[in-house]
Amino acid sequence: MPPLPRLRFAPSPTGSLHLGGLRTALFNHLLARKWGGKWLLRIEDTDQTRLVEGSVDEIRRGLEWAGLDYDEGPVVGGSHGPYYQAQRLDMYHSHAEDLLRKDRAYRCFCEPAQLAATRLRLQQSGSMAGYDRTCRKLEPDDVKHRLSLHQPHCIRLSTPDEPPPSFADLVFGNPSPHPVPVDPIIVKTDGFPTYHLANVVDDHSMEITHVLRGEEWLPSVPLHLTLYSAFGWEPPQFAHLPLLLNPDGSKMSKRTGVGAFVSEYMDKGWEPEAVLNWLATAGWGGKRDPHAPPDPDA
Ligand code: GLU
Repeated sequence: MPPLPRLRFAPSPTGSLHLGGLRTALFNHLLARKWGGKWLLRIEDTDQTRLVEGSVDEIRRGLEWAGLDYDEGPVVGGSHGPYYQAQRLDMYHSHAEDLLRKDRAYRCFCEPAQLAATRLRLQQSGSMAGYDRTCRKLEPDDVKHRLSLHQPHCIRLSTPDEPPPSFADLVFGNPSPHPVPVDPIIVKTDGFPTYHLANVVDDHSMEITHVLRGEEWLPSVPLHLTLYSAFGWEPPQFAHLPLLLNPDGSKMSKRTGVGAFVSEYMDKGWEPEAVLNWLATAGWGGKRDPHAPPDPDA
């Protein structure tokens, strides 16, 4: 028997809950309920520079208002809460160590000025690469020596010189795969994992069967597949939701006027069902979404 579907909503706490985020949560919720599976809430808070105070509370408040109840998470004060990536750093480190041992990753000691000069040189020579793999060639003794001196470093994934892996998406079919960056960073100098490492490790360890998220993450899939393959893990199925657009075709996340945030509808006394009903049907109109978002003042 195939495993029960497991889904997740994985927002980054970088601001107010957006209608697009609520729509992603809604589809995860609906599919989990329809298929008799489960979904969980995971707060992707590994980019410490982008955290916005209060946004986790706002995300939770928005989900509660909309009646989108998730099924599991660490129990705090009698009820289960979300998973927080910042509380799972040991796990990401041990998986990064695993890649280092398997020679699928390496420590990079290049300093910011050196990296900037490398990028410029590569750009001028017409290369699309952002890094020249200098530290991939370091001898093990040299690495040991630098570690003994506590030299700051990050960890990079060794990406193969191959065309990016193609894949099937449950919504987009077979999109042409975006190139995988050359040896991207997976653990930053501050010790925090990048979004890509934490996201893949969590989707695997939380046994997520379907990754359902916004279209803006479609270009990341080839890199994620490269990570799955480096770990020797089976990837989940992917389904990307088309972006919500403004009537003029611009991204709704760039909307400067009213109507883009869930809190606006909450504060103005909208019935959640009305907003959910609109969200369930919006965004499927092709390049230009013919449906304007509802005006919270209407
Ligand atoms: N953390 C990402 C965001 O807030 C979502 C990534 C994902 O769902 O894989 O947009």
